[in-house]
Order: sequence, then C-alpha cells, then structure tokens
Amino acid sequence: MRRFKVYGKFLLGLFCISLIPPAAFTSVTYYYDLSREKNSLITAVARGEKRINALLSSAEATLSDVAKYVDPTDPEASDLLQREVYNEPLFREIGIIDGNGYLTMTNLGKLDSPIFIEPERRANLNDENLQILGPLKTSLMQEKSLILTLPVVERGEINVLVDPSILTADWGSSIQEDLGPEGYFAYINQKTGEILSSLGELPSQQLPLTNRNASFIQSVVTSQNAQVLVVGGISKASILRQWRDQLLIVIPISSFCSALTIFLALRLMKQSMALDHELRIGLKNQEFIVHYQPIVNLKTGQYVGAEALIRWHHPQQGILSPNMFIPIAERTGLITLIGEWLIKTTSQELSNLFQEFSDLYISVNLSPIQVRSRSLDKVILWLRDNVFFSPARCVFEITEAVIVHNYGTTSSDTLARLRQLGARISLDDFGTGYSGLNYLHQFEVDQIKIDRFYVAAINRDPLITHILETLIDLGQKLDVTLVAEGIETEEQRKFLSERGVEYGQGWLFARPTPIGEFEAAIHRNQPQQGSKTES
Ligand code: C2E
Ligand code: MG
Ligand code: MG
Repeated sequence: MRRFKVYGKFLLGLFCISLIPPAAFTSVTYYYDLSREKNSLITAVARGEKRINALLSSAEATLSDVAKYVDPTDPEASDLLQREVYNEPLFREIGIIDGNGYLTMTNLGKLDSPIFIEPERRANLNDENLQILGPLKTSLMQEKSLILTLPVVERGEINVLVDPSILTADWGSSIQEDLGPEGYFAYINQKTGEILSSLGELPSQQLPLTNRNASFIQSVVTSQNAQVLVVGGISKASILRQWRDQLLIVIPISSFCSALTIFLALRLMKQSMALDHELRIGLKNQEFIVHYQPIVNLKTGQYVGAEALIRWHHPQQGILSPNMFIPIAERTGLITLIGEWLIKTTSQELSNLFQEFSDLYISVNLSPIQVRSRSLDKVILWLRDNVFFSPARCVFEITEAVIVHNYGTTSSDTLARLRQLGARISLDDFGTGYSGLNYLHQFEVDQIKIDRFYVAAINRDPLITHILETLIDLGQKLDVTLVAEGIETEEQRKFLSERGVEYGQGWLFARPTPIGEFEAAIHRNQPQQGSKTES
C-alpha cells in the first residue's frame, strides 16, 4: 500500500514538475516583453522631455533677447532676427506683431504692408509668459507650425515658428526606434489639450489616458507658463501579439524540456519499481546476508563488538552494497521489513558468540525512516521478550539527520524506549551531517562514531585533522564513547588512541565478513576466553 502511495505521490509530483518549464518560460517571456517595452517607453519619454525643454528654453531666451535688444524701427532689425534663426536650427521663422495685431517684421525683412493676425493666432497679452499656440498654418507658410510667442509690454508680441515634426524627428537618437512600430508618442499642450507633435496612432479616448487600456507613461514638462505633457505608450494588444509570436518558439522548447523531464523521471521510477520488486523477491528468497565488522579497543586490540552490515546476494549481479539498495528500500518503505529481518538474523547468528563472549556488543544501523515510523515498536517488543539477545548488548546507530529533524517527535520517543530497555544509541557518521551541537546536548546518545572522512585526513590534511581533534574533544566533554570508523593504517590507530578515542573499526583490523569468518576471527583475537568457554 505504502508503495502505491509513494508512486502515486511521485506521479503527482512528476505532473506538477512537468508544468514548471512551460509555465516558467511563458510567464518569464511575458514579463520580459512587458518590462522591455516599459523601459523603452521610459527612454522615449525621457528623450521627449529633453527635446521639449530644449525648445522651450531656447525660445524663451531668444524671444527675451529680441524683446530687449531689437528695435522694430531700426532698419537692421530684420538682420538681427535673421541671425537668431540662423543660430537656432529649431526655428523656422521669427516675427514681430505690433500692439494692434499686425505682423510688421520677420527675419526675412520688414513687411511693406503689415498682415493682420487673427486673435486666436496671437498671444493673450494679459499673460506675460511664453505661450504655445498651434500647430497652425500661418499666412506666410503652407505647412503647420507651432507658434511660441512672448508678449512684450506695450509693444505687442514676438514669436518663433517651429516645425512640429522636429520634436519627434531623429536627433541622433530616435524616439521612433525606442517605441517600435506599434508605439505612440505625443507632446500635448496641457492648457488647450492640443497635440503639438506626435508619432503613431494615439488611443481615441479622452485625456488623461488611463493605465487600463494601454501600457503607457507620461510626464509633464513645465516651462514658465507653458505646460507640455509628454506621453508615450504601447497598446497591450501589441505586447500580447509580440508575446504570442515568441511563444511559438518558447512553447516547443519548454514542451521538449517537460517531455525530457517526464521521460527521465519515468525511467527512474521504472528502475526503482523494478528494484523494489526485486528487493521483495530477494527478501522472500533469503538473498540477504549480514556481514560483521569487528569493533576494536584501540589500545589493546581486543574485539569489543561488531557492526552488522547488510549485503544483498543478487542472483545476477553478485554481492550488492547497501548503498545501492537501502535508499530504494527507504523510499518504498521496505526498509522496515529489512530492518526486522536484520535484527532477527543477527540475533540468531550471534547467539553462540554472545554466550561465549559476555562483553561483546552488536551495532545495528537504523534508517531515519525506521526511526520515524512506528515500525520499531515490533522490534522493541521482540527485544524485550528475548532472553538470549539482551537489548543491553545492542547499539543502535542513527545519523545526525534523525536527531536534528526529529527532536520531540516519534523518533525521540522510540529512541528513548530503546534506551529504557538498556540498548545504547550511537551517532553514526559524526561530522558529515548537520553537527547540530545543541541537539547533541538535548538528545541523549551514548556513543559517537567519527566518520572515516576525518580518519582518512589524519596527518594528511592539517585543517581536517584539527577539526577531528576538536570533535574528539567535544565527545570527551559530552562523556560519550568514541568510535572511529575506517581506520586503515597503524598511524591512524596510534593518532586516535593517543588522543583518547577508545574504539575503532576498519580494514586495519578486519573487513566486514560473514558470521563464520567473524567467529574465527574473534576466536583468534581472544583465544583464552574462547577456549575457556569451549573447554
Ligand atoms: P556505515 O554505518 O557508516 O558503515 C560503515 C561503512 O564503512 C561500511 O560500508 C563498511 O564496509 C565501510 N568500512 C569499514 N571499514 C572501512 C575502511 O577501513 N575503509 C573504508 N573505505 N570503508 C570501510 P558498507 O557496508 O558499504 O555500508 C555502507 C552504509 O550502508 C553504512 O554506513 C550504513 O549507513 C548503511 N547500512 C549498512 N547496513 C545497513 C543496515 O542493515 N540497515 C541500514 N539502515 N543501513 C545499513
Ligand atoms: Mg554504521
Ligand atoms: Mg558510519
């Protein structure tokens, strides 16, 4: 049942994972498009602001100068106007209108017959600031011009004519390029609502534009009294269109990624299902065996215990290491059955040796899954009632992950009950996991097994050796038994023994072997006690 639950969860997870690439690609593309458009708009509007500012301040400066220094009655006045137009390429023309509304002079010369200018094409003389009119057709020019006009007290007004398209034209940098073909852009006279100059098609709705219909930004440029709204925008429909075009490329790629993920995951699942199935058959056919690796007193060399290490005698693949099948057994829950099998098998195989060597203990590895579930309850009951295999002779090895994630949970309860029976708890592979020292202090452990990573570094890597010394020191302060794993050389044994590590295991003493070889080895190691019992 648990197996189906696990695979069910796996398939659900797989389905969710397969949705991630298309969803991620699609939304990333959309937000990328949107932010790219927004950035382009920001750039375009910033350019627009600069241009209108440049125009207004140049017009203000020129017209104020003309008002101050040019006397319309002076015969050379039009030459001075001509020079101003020459100096500022933004201006088409400069004109002077007298107090009665007649255009009397332009930069091209004095008008012999002054032209009357209608009031709507002239400045409001009650307002002394620069004013923007138009775009309008003037009497002397066919094309529409913007009229920037400055009233002059008691003399009428002076104005410059500006080609509106200059504001949106290429000035070395192009607003049109920033906007792209679908964008729109406009300078709007805030007082009159008239569009001074524009690019693209503006939305038909009334100003001010709202964010709902378009992705747009606007900014207001004020020069004295002239207020110009600079607006840039692009319709959402166009962003969506661009997005759709990109999806035509992105969707096949992301679908391919999803298909690949599903394919790989299904293959993994198939393999793991096959192995799980094989594991069950292996358990039924008694293909598992236990190897025992002696745990040795580092000072005397005497065997004090053994670690039970499981092996799978696979009919086709030969002897398989636990690293190859324990993770799968953990995933499918089969580890609980394997764990029970291991304890019972070990108790049977060791029953003679336990009678013979009264101090010998056996160390059994517990997987976090076993500790977390209630599956050890059965083992605990069985241990309690077993007279030959006393719990006091058992050490249960757990990893740091069990402690760190499970303080105050089922796991701590299970471990506490094992300890109550007299069993000891050992912390395996110490120093490779979380090393949550505060948990160590709160969680009662009797033994710490220093991982072989540290042992291998002895006298080779000064930093790791230094950390090893700190770990040893810590273990001694916590008053736990220290066992070093993976001792392969006499130098390592000596180093550890000299620093007070009591026990160790490793190829220097013996490799893990089946029970028969282990029995022979312990008899060789402790002949007197062995022969005493035999006699
Ligand atoms: P572990 O508990 O840390 O076991 C020690 C591992 O180090 C064993 O590998 C052992 O063969 C190996 N070893 C011992 N001395 C030396 C040495 O001097 N040099 C080197 N290089 N290696 C040495 P093994 O048997 O392959 O076990 C690997 C892991 O599988 C164990 O690590 C343990 O975590 C797990 N395991 C083994 N049996 C069981 C079991 O019955 N139940 C559970 N849950 N896990 C088990
Ligand atoms: Mg172990
Ligand atoms: Mg270990």
